Amino acid sequence: MQIPFDNSYARLPERFFAPVQPLQSPSPALVQINEGLASELGIDASWLNSPAGLDVLSGRAIADGSEPIAQAYAGHQFGNFVPQLGDGRAVLLGEVVDRHGQRRDIQLKGGGRTPFSRGGDGRAALGPVLREYLVSEAMAALGIRTTRALAAVTTGEPVARETVLPGAMLTRIASSHIRVGTFQYFAVRDDAEGIRLLADHVIARHYPAAEETQRPYRALLDAVIVAQANLVASWLLVGFIHGVMNTDNMSVAGETIDYGPCAFMDAYDPATVFSSIDRGGRYAFGNQPRIAHWNLTRFAETLLPLLNDDQDAAVEEAQDALARFGSIFEQAYFGGLRRKVGLASEQEGDVELINTLLTGMTENQVDFTAFFRALGQAAVDNDEPARALFINPTAFDNWAADWRLRLERDVQDAETRRSAMDRINPAFIPRNHQVEAMIAAAVDRTDFSPFRRMLDVLSRPFEDQPAAEDLAQPPLPHQRVAATFC
Ligand code: AMP
Ligand code: MG
Ligand code: MG
Repeated sequence: MQIPFDNSYARLPERFFAPVQPLQSPSPALVQINEGLASELGIDASWLNSPAGLDVLSGRAIADGSEPIAQAYAGHQFGNFVPQLGDGRAVLLGEVVDRHGQRRDIQLKGGGRTPFSRGGDGRAALGPVLREYLVSEAMAALGIRTTRALAAVTTGEPVARETVLPGAMLTRIASSHIRVGTFQYFAVRDDAEGIRLLADHVIARHYPAAEETQRPYRALLDAVIVAQANLVASWLLVGFIHGVMNTDNMSVAGETIDYGPCAFMDAYDPATVFSSIDRGGRYAFGNQPRIAHWNLTRFAETLLPLLNDDQDAAVEEAQDALARFGSIFEQAYFGGLRRKVGLASEQEGDVELINTLLTGMTENQVDFTAFFRALGQAAVDNDEPARALFINPTAFDNWAADWRLRLERDVQDAETRRSAMDRINPAFIPRNHQVEAMIAAAVDRTDFSPFRRMLDVLSRPFEDQPAAEDLAQPPLPHQRVAATFC
């Protein structure tokens, strides 16, 4: 087998999915292959690069062992429950067990219509495919849990959006594509057996330690809460805004999934929203922890019948589990912020010091990524790059005086501190204005060189790369992107 498929989801009962055939691209062309990831998955990159590989990556051929299905799920979209969503433009080709023994899904996004497509065309346009490829790989390089990109191809077929655009397919890798919305799909149908089978599948696949406990379903709930609290904290620590945190876009494995109108914040402001479809700001940067908790509450509701036969006892148990979200999140978030400002220990007053900084950054429209990177220099000998990012640099000076007093209470020399800071404060993130320019080059001029260059630079986000200094720069006022689209 060219791809060592070992499928488990397709063994679940028929009502979990629909068998489908991917759409055959009429005239595919390879854009990118992720050779490192291919080798992790036990797939020969030279085969992927061959015409036979391209046929599989473009829906023209079904690889040996592949059992293509579309997964059923439901979900709350912007707070409104939709009892049936499902893979409307994605085809799960199957699963492999990777070099580390981890089971991974291989999915073709943009793979054509399925029984869950509703009014949609089942297709993907090149721009969103390149954005997902680049941003998901950048997130992985930043050390954030995420789905990955194995390949991108163009299909040779146009797709109709507001304008006519080149069609594309993304081969996406995930620990699984099981969502909070997958559980909701069975819960809304009062399918208790479905919930139990799904929960058992998720425990075996993602949280095997839960099986060893007295109460495996409670342990499952706890584990998903921990995974999501840590994930959202990791987003906040790099300025990432998912943009569409619907329950159908929330992985129970705790990976970032379904990159749509996502964006990294430039100037720090918790109220930041980019997504053109998020008109009420429900998914604003600073709301993300609250929304994760809301989504986890929906998840917990689906598990109630498994938690306890007694309804009241089950609710109490779910509430007890959910109540821990806040402290798990805060520990990860403030722990990360402490490290971002170079603190090596945990002391009283740290949270106030950090919050004063963040308030000052909002008031002074300070670029989030550039600031923390520059703070590493301030920790050694040069305040100028950090303070210059403030509209009013004396706001930085005032904060920095308190910060220096605090640094003196850690036993750590300045160079060690700086290198620790540089290992967690990236110099490079996928900046919106550069992502837009990269997409325009590919779509308008069939020029993939900006895509490849960004992919390369963003694979080493913590390294100073003088030749890529342009990619580290915040947008100039006229370059600022106000809205992102799916
Ligand atoms: P998303 O916005 O990608 O999270 O998708 C929400 C729901 O709409 C999912 O059920 C998708 O499968 C479906 N969907 C999104 N785009 C399309 C499309 N072009 N064709 C069919 N279904 C789609
Ligand atoms: Mg079926
Ligand atoms: Mg989705």
